Amino acid sequence: MIKAVFIDIDGTLLDFEACVEESMRLGLIERGIDYKPEMLDTFHSINDGLWRDLEKGKLTFERLLEIRWKTVFEALGIELDGPEFERYFRARLHESAIPMEGSYDTLKYLSGKYRLFAASNGPHEQQVKRMEKAGMKEFFEEIFTSGKIGAEKPSADFFEYCFNSAGEIKPEESVMLGDSLTSDMRGGADFGMETIWLNLKNEEKPEWVDFEIKSLVEVKNIL
Ligand SMILES: [Mg+2]
Repeated sequence: MIKAVFIDIDGTLLDFEACVEESMRLGLIERGIDYKPEMLDTFHSINDGLWRDLEKGKLTFERLLEIRWKTVFEALGIELDGPEFERYFRARLHESAIPMEGSYDTLKYLSGKYRLFAASNGPHEQQVKRMEKAGMKEFFEEIFTSGKIGAEKPSADFFEYCFNSAGEIKPEESVMLGDSLTSDMRGGADFGMETIWLNLKNEEKPEWVDFEIKSLVEVKNIL
């Protein structure tokens, strides 16, 4: 019998993409730039390219932060200070908390039936602050973050800490709900939890994932 549900934060409860859009749009408007939606596409294509270079070891994270907005502004023909915007952008992003569709209804529904925990790869204070800002913190017994634990999903260390801290629940009596196959689903499945995948991009469900949903409200059909 399922007793507890562990829920990822970004891309599951909070709409990280919308937070990126809002931070960019408001930052440009505040700096007197006429924001157009296609500017976000330019940001994404440059940002994705830089992250690929980083993964290949061609770029350090520090260097990425130095050149990211400078490169975006050059491509857009905007005269703004890239490093200054980077500092603003990251600070704003770390405070933004735009809920995913159906997140409150789902939390309300689940909170009456199960013990709820948040489980996120991210800095602790930032994630707690964003949950507070979104009005979601009260639903959770505890917010587990890689920042506090010192290990990330999908590692067993992350989940071991969560279960030790939560007490009295076994992995097989719990569910991991999240949008990432590589961190939420892999980590939960390897630790012996049931898994529910929020498959927003309509990708193919791997066999080892227990359930998939296309929208958070569909959780009610499973739990
Ligand atoms: Mg996520």
